[in-house]
Amino acid sequence: MLATAERVRGTNGQSDTVLWHKSAGRCNGDCDFHAIACSTEDGIVLPGPVQNVPLDLAKAGERWCLDCLAIIRAARSAKD
Ligand SMILES: [Zn+2]
Ligand SMILES: [Zn+2]
Repeated sequence: MLATAERVRGTNGQSDTVLWHKSAGRCNGDCDFHAIACSTEDGIVLPGPVQNVPLDLAKAGERWCLDCLAIIRAARSAKD
């Protein structure tokens, strides 16, 4: 699943985490902004490149946006 990363600052001395959102637009590799599936208004400013991220992401410090994950799952079940 193509996704764009949001860096979430850790609180109380926790390390930062990376929150992956489903990408909702084109990526030309040099974007100022990435639209995300869970919001029509918000997005990632000065994003890193879109990456193909597995839905069963099991990396420490990285997780999926739950809203985006729900959208992905709903789209998949609609196809079946
Ligand atoms: Zn999201
Ligand atoms: Zn891009």
